Formats: sequence, structure tokens, C-alpha cells
Amino acid sequence: MNDDISRRGLLGLGLAAAALPTLGRAQGDGVGFAVVGLGKLSLGQIVPGFAHCRSARLAALVSGHAENANRLAAEHKLPARSVYGYEDFDRIAADPRIEVVYIVLPNFLHAEYTIRALKAGKHVLCEKPMATSVGDAERMIAAAKAANRKLMIAYRCHYEPLNLYAMRKMRAGALGRPRLVVTNMGRQSDLSDPSDAWRLDLVKSGGGALTDMGIYGINGARYLLNEEPVEVRAWAQTDRRDPRFQTVEDMIAWEFRFPSGALSTGTTSFDQAGTMAWEVYGTSGKMNADPGCFYGGNRLVLGGMPGEREPKIVEIDQFAREMDWMADVVRGRAPMVSPGEEGLQDMRLMHAILESVARGGATVRTAWNYRRAVDPATAVPA
Ligand code: NAD
Repeated sequence: MNDDISRRGLLGLGLAAAALPTLGRAQGDGVGFAVVGLGKLSLGQIVPGFAHCRSARLAALVSGHAENANRLAAEHKLPARSVYGYEDFDRIAADPRIEVVYIVLPNFLHAEYTIRALKAGKHVLCEKPMATSVGDAERMIAAAKAANRKLMIAYRCHYEPLNLYAMRKMRAGALGRPRLVVTNMGRQSDLSDPSDAWRLDLVKSGGGALTDMGIYGINGARYLLNEEPVEVRAWAQTDRRDPRFQTVEDMIAWEFRFPSGALSTGTTSFDQAGTMAWEVYGTSGKMNADPGCFYGGNRLVLGGMPGEREPKIVEIDQFAREMDWMADVVRGRAPMVSPGEEGLQDMRLMHAILESVARGGATVRTAWNYRRAVDPATAVPA
């Protein structure tokens, strides 16, 4: 979120990616990335993030605004032939400098460009939410299999030190038996901002605040507890007189029940003060992360367990780390941690939440036997 953070000035709470120390540029065998869509996230975080990458390097830009893209390419010392438009996008197939295509488009375009990139023989890193429907998410996974290429969803918290620290505490049983995860992810939205206009359109976003910000709480409850919900029920509170909420819901609150007996309550809204916070309560300890999922400046407070109450956790450029991880997956140096299947599980859960909302809070079964293949807590170093 540009969505998530910076647009609302929340970045003031954290560190801009560009302010972080350079970890070293990709060397000779760097994996070339094409960034598709040069909007707020690409310009603010992703393109600057390559300066902090070890394995990934910027190789091409795909944009509908040739002039802007050419200027950006020149700034990054890319030759003019590295700039593509949406019409000639499929020409990337013949460009060996591009190994990974990073899809940073509005949600409704993720499936189309992911599948085109896979058909062009490229690996894909796709922003969250993976798609705007379960069917599209399934088609993306099938396309990756058919092309024998990697498909990773950009769940940056799977690679973020504070969230990894918290996951490890949970896996070690430091809080006793996990009982409750509470997540709240929201902010104010602005219909006059083109970057929000599509987020406030059900067809283009797939679900407003839920698919933009609520997804962090859904994914967070799952990676903190390391299990999958078996039931959900949800309610929405939406003022249809507000021009922002003509097709999407505003505030949604849901409850997940997990096989261990743990519960999670989540809320999301596009008409509230900005936050990306989560809390976990176990039988003997608790953790509070507020903010817990910002680009920087995240803060964790522990209670009821030995050790530091507010551990010092080193800040990193989350986008650089995520892109490096994808590059290492492509080179066979790292396991795939956030594959398409992980994105599909969130798509299914968001669909179940919206189904429950439509049915007045009815309980919807979500026991699909999904199990994540690789736990970030064990696979990703601190
Ligand atoms: P944005 O609206 O600022 O940028 C989207 C870009 O797509 C723009 O450059 C726009 O010109 C281009 N575009 C191409 N075709 C378009 C069309 N038909 N309609 C509208 N725009 C079109 O959005 P953003 O904030 O950069 O978000 C892009 C994606 O990144 C979204 O999927 C969002 O969920 C995701 N995102 C993720 C994070 C994160 O922390 N991982 C943060 C922000 C955004």
C-alpha cells in the first residue's frame, strides 16, 4: 500500500526504502526483472528497491506512458529497447535479459498479464491480491504449471524480520497455547485519486478494502498460527450514501475458527484512520504489533514471556528482500515460500468472507485441506 502506507502519510512512521543502506548490487548472474505498471508502488518502492538487491536487477519497464517510462529507464541506465508498452508486451518473449516479470498492475489485470508473461516463458512475481476471482487465480497457477515457470505472490510479510520473529516465537510455543489473533488493516480512501478509484471499484479490485488491506490480516492470522481456518463468518458495515462505496463494502469484520481451537477476528475498512496492526494472545503470553505490516517502522511488544519486552528488530528493504528471494528461487538457491497456491488460499477465504456477508453473517465452511508447503518461519532467515 502505497495503498497501505505512504499515501496517507503513514510512511512518516517508518523508513522510506530509499533511506536504507545499500546491500550491494546484483552481480554478473543477477536475475533480470521487468516491472509491469509504473504506479505508486513501482515508483515509490519497487524500482528504488533494486538498488538494495543482491540477486535481482531491473532489466525492463512496461508502461502505457512511453515518455515517463523512457525517462525512468534512462535514470536507471537501461537501454531504450528495455521499455515496453502494453500492446507490444508479448515481445518480452524474445528478450533474454528478462527472466522474471513483476506484475504491479491494478488487481483486475494481474491474471491477464501473469498468464501472458508465463506464455512468453518468463517467471512471474505478482502483487497481492493475486487476482480478482478464485477462477482467475486457478488459471494463473495452471498457466505456471503448463509453462513450467515459477509463480510467486508478493507477500512481503513472509520475508519481513518482525513478522518472521513473531512466527518463530509462535512456533516455539513462547506464548503458550495460541488462543486469539486480532488484526485490523485499514485507512482512508480517496475516490479522486486514480490509484484509489480502481480500489473502490468491485470489478477492478475484487473487493475494496478487503482485497487491498484485509488480505494482510487474513494471511497474517494464517502465518502466525501456522494453520488454516475451517469456518468463517463475517458482517459488513457500509454507508451506500458515501460515493466511495457504491460497489464495494466499506468495513468488514470476520471471525475465523481454526482446527486447534484458536480464533481470529479481523477487520478492514476504507473509511478509518490508517493502521496495519495485529495482536496474538496465547495462554501465557501475548504479542502486539502496531504497526505490524508497514514498509518500515514496525513495532513489536511482547508480554508474559521472558526476554526483551520490545525486541530490536533490524529494518530491511522489504521489497528488495522479496525480489531477491524470487531471484534466488529462479536460480534454485531458495525454496518457493509464497507460491500461487498461497495466493489462491487467500482468494478463497476472501470469497468466503464476502459470501458470509451476503448471507447476513452465516457460517461458511473453509476446510479445503490446504496446507502451505513451506513455512516462512523455518525457510526465511531473520
Ligand atoms: P496504482 O494505481 O498507483 O498503479 C497502477 C499502474 O497500473 C499505474 O501506473 C496505471 O497507469 C497502470 N495501469 C495500466 N492499465 C491500467 C488500467 N486499465 N487501469 C488503471 N491503471 C492501469 O496502483 P499501486 O498502488 O501501484 O498498486 C498496484 C498493485 O500493487 C496492486 O495490485 C496493489 O494491491 C499492489 N500493492 C501492493 C503493496 C504491497 O505492500 N505489497 C503496496 C501497494 C500496492
